[in-house]
Amino acid sequence: MTLATSHLWIGGRDVPANDRFVVCSPIDRLPIAEVASANDQDALVAIESAIAAQRLWCTEQPATRAAILTRWAESIDAAAPQLAAMLHRESGKVMREALSEVGHGADMLRWYGQRATCITGEAFAGPDGLRLMTSKQAVGVVACITPWNFPVASVLVKVGAALAAGCACVVKPSELTPLTALALAQLSADAGLPGGLLNVLPSAEPERIAGAFCGHTGVRKLSFTGSTATGKKLYRQCADSVKRLSLELGGNAPFIVFDDADLDLALRCVVNARYYNTGQICVGANRIFVHAALHDRFAEALVKMVAGLRFGSDGDLGPLIQGSALERVTGICEDAVSKGARILCGGEPSDRGDFYFRPGVMIDMDDRMRACREEIFGPLACIYRFEDEAEVMHKANDTESGLAAYAFSRNRARLMRCADGLEAGAIGLNSSALFHRNLPFGGIKQSGLGKEQGIHCLDEFLVEKSLVIGEAS
Ligand code: NAD
Repeated sequence: MTLATSHLWIGGRDVPANDRFVVCSPIDRLPIAEVASANDQDALVAIESAIAAQRLWCTEQPATRAAILTRWAESIDAAAPQLAAMLHRESGKVMREALSEVGHGADMLRWYGQRATCITGEAFAGPDGLRLMTSKQAVGVVACITPWNFPVASVLVKVGAALAAGCACVVKPSELTPLTALALAQLSADAGLPGGLLNVLPSAEPERIAGAFCGHTGVRKLSFTGSTATGKKLYRQCADSVKRLSLELGGNAPFIVFDDADLDLALRCVVNARYYNTGQICVGANRIFVHAALHDRFAEALVKMVAGLRFGSDGDLGPLIQGSALERVTGICEDAVSKGARILCGGEPSDRGDFYFRPGVMIDMDDRMRACREEIFGPLACIYRFEDEAEVMHKANDTESGLAAYAFSRNRARLMRCADGLEAGAIGLNSSALFHRNLPFGGIKQSGLGKEQGIHCLDEFLVEKSLVIGEAS
């Protein structure tokens, strides 16, 4: 059987490349497609195409930009079953979650379209008859570098906001999941997005493409989602051209269950916050702190709930993304056990083989273990026992990450102390549902810079000018 081949997407059309790489599904490790691999020259062509297209696009009426984004969202909705199937195959996520991600991405495009029509400036009366005004304009060409764990949503969240603001994009999707990004680009053209505004450059050499983006003065902003280690490298690379930067990086979220918590609610939420996307989620409950009074009941009930999670397309869990991830999560478990942790269930590669990991629950965790310091990024709940509020708040914040945090309690005043005291950009109080289009999302500390989504989402893609206007006689 010959493999499907995919090209680069530059200037609104398929463009062949000299090199190719094979993308395999983590579900069964079989090849899915042979994908064109962009090099520096392809990146330069794409950037020039974006620069030319952006000059016209930023002069379009916001309502025109909104209409095209809305048509794109409609075409994504119409193709949702096929897109979700492709997303399922390339990322391994279960179909229910793949469909939800595609739907969320389309909704975000519609939301950004609405926001495009709300870009405003301000006006003030100045001294001596001067009029003082501000005006916002598109920042220019935006480079977007995206991860494999939400390959559709992370592309649409960046590109949608950039296009709504009047920018053009050059996108480098993860080399593990480039197919949905290319399919989204094709749908954008079908929806009438002018060529050059969205360019997609899969590459087996991510560092080269990122280097071309960061080194080009015509790229005015980099919007990156991925690991903290890669984010730091890109931050340095952007310094020479003083590029604007958004970084959505890794997390190490505390999930605190106080002694007065609604236990059933906390359990439902921890399953969502730890096992969604097979635990490969930046806001995952990485360190689960349970008060000593509830600890044993919580752990026992969680083991029962985890026993009900099923592998498979129509189930709850898929494989991990690749062999190195399976080795890493297994190593994190072994390290914890060697330092005194106990595994209550799972916590080892599944006998299904491939990259499947049996969902686990561990107790007797402490801060000497890798699980406490690293992002686990797998279906493994690690439970830490605590006695009092001051102690748990200190432990919760004892990390360089600051993406998400969760707290469960029936005491409103305590929850408000958590809201004030937890060092995280997104905090769930008696809830694990952190993503809402009108709430900004982004980390503090080493989890990132800038925000995505929210009422002011387009500001990240706009520059503001101050105008001082006098009267000529
Ligand atoms: P990654 O950093 O390995 O890769 C992310 C992107 O960067 C990919 O496109 C990859 O090709 C590219 N890349 C990798 N090395 C590079 C280099 N040296 N120079 C330039 N580009 C490079 O991250 P990942 O494994 O794809 O994603 C998982 C990470 O992303 C986790 O840490 C997770 O927490 C984080 N993440 C954060 C958010 C958020 O909103 N904060 C959302 C999703 C994922």
